[in-house]
Amino acid sequence: MNAGFRAIPSVDAVLRSCSGQTATARFGHAQTTGRIRALINVERETARSAGMLRDAEGLGALALAALEAQSGHALRPVFNLTGTVLHTNLGRAVLADTAIDAAMDAMRDAVALEFDLDTGKRGERDDHLRALICELTGAEDATIVNNNAAAVLLVLNTLAGDGGGAVVSRGELIEIGGAFRMPDIMRQAGARLIEVGTTNRTHEKDYKAALDDEAVALILKVHTSNYRIEGFTKEVGGQVLSVLARNSDVPLVNDLGSGTLVDLARWGLRREPTVREAVAEGADLVTFSGDKLLGGPQAGFIVGRKDLIERINRNPMKRALRVDKMRLAALEATLKLYRDPDRLAERLPTLRLLARQRDEISDMAIALLPHVEAALGEAWHVAIVDCESQIGSGALPLDTLPSAGFAIRAASGSGQALERLAAALRGLAKPVIGRIAEGAIVLDLRCLEDGESFVRNLQGAHIGLA
Ligand SMILES: *Cc1c(COP(=O)(O)O)cnc(C)c1O
Repeated sequence: MNAGFRAIPSVDAVLRSCSGQTATARFGHAQTTGRIRALINVERETARSAGMLRDAEGLGALALAALEAQSGHALRPVFNLTGTVLHTNLGRAVLADTAIDAAMDAMRDAVALEFDLDTGKRGERDDHLRALICELTGAEDATIVNNNAAAVLLVLNTLAGDGGGAVVSRGELIEIGGAFRMPDIMRQAGARLIEVGTTNRTHEKDYKAALDDEAVALILKVHTSNYRIEGFTKEVGGQVLSVLARNSDVPLVNDLGSGTLVDLARWGLRREPTVREAVAEGADLVTFSGDKLLGGPQAGFIVGRKDLIERINRNPMKRALRVDKMRLAALEATLKLYRDPDRLAERLPTLRLLARQRDEISDMAIALLPHVEAALGEAWHVAIVDCESQIGSGALPLDTLPSAGFAIRAASGSGQALERLAAALRGLAKPVIGRIAEGAIVLDLRCLEDGESFVRNLQGAHIGLA
């Protein structure tokens, strides 16, 4: 043994150091000891190569820093300055305050989730929202599952899981991000896909032929949310399909995707078919998401005919796809906001952000510009630019919302400087996520509501030189 090895402090010595004691107090004996042992192993390597060794306090400080670094949340809040309001990779909808409060209450306490407070008997978790959903959609009955993908899977499995035929237009065989492809979902659900029509044109007679020639369990209409076919096109509307379905005594299922509950034209957005309209058109079941345009937590709704919803609820798969008390609480609070459409844009962040006018956003950019310039320093050139925000999560993919933001370029330097700045922004206490376009980092301010905290966060950046 050489002198170097003897100079390495013992685990106990490091634990007794000032930082060692702080680490033990904050992270416990087991974690702290584990870290110190790992550091001492590294010190042995250093001693072998006759490098500089640390004292007990030095090792204690390293252990403390390492424990602190791993103690933060991995699921960190970020500034979404991508310009995409419902960004699937950034968690889609930001919830309303009332929804957050309701979810927190449900987390903190036991709740009457499957307990009927009137009778003292067992209740059903869907009971709390059923009446509210029916009121907002005009449907007879409703149930809730993990997400809309689950809703479609469960409906197909319940109505056609025994190899029953599901008729879909070739123009509606969608793929949603994350491997949700209609033909694959069909197969997983146990249904037999019956394609009708062509990619651009499907006629009533195509559906009729399938209904006449094949054993059909259901007709599925799918909202082509994330793409649009233009030009020489034809699709069969929900109303016509519902008559066909009724005459053949098979249910019509309409997968709406985003599923808005209000006419978005009121807030200057493109009109989307509402859930109420899909129900009124005669769909027997309608499926839609909770965290797209609806602005709530991740969830999938199935609304429609009572006898069909009852069959769905008897499917053992329902148990595997159900939602927990936190999300039900947040959903209830979100849905209740729709009872007062006049104040919806004020209270529901998704709609508030989508409805923000360019002028308001660009005023914010003008007010923030000097602070952003000061925080980034001389090495960066910041300009206010027009932006085109997107709704996101596949909703209205061709519609952009006029917006404003910053384009940041290196005052002198290369594309690599830009990558470094993007990385530095991601490394902030609250990471800032923008996008790189045309040699600049573009930060679209549509989703920025608290400019002050954004500036404060940037000031801690020490981004420095390009
Ligand atoms: C988004 C979407 C889905 C999937 O919904 P999730 O809630 O993301 O699971 C299914 N169908 C359509 C038409 C959609 O737009």
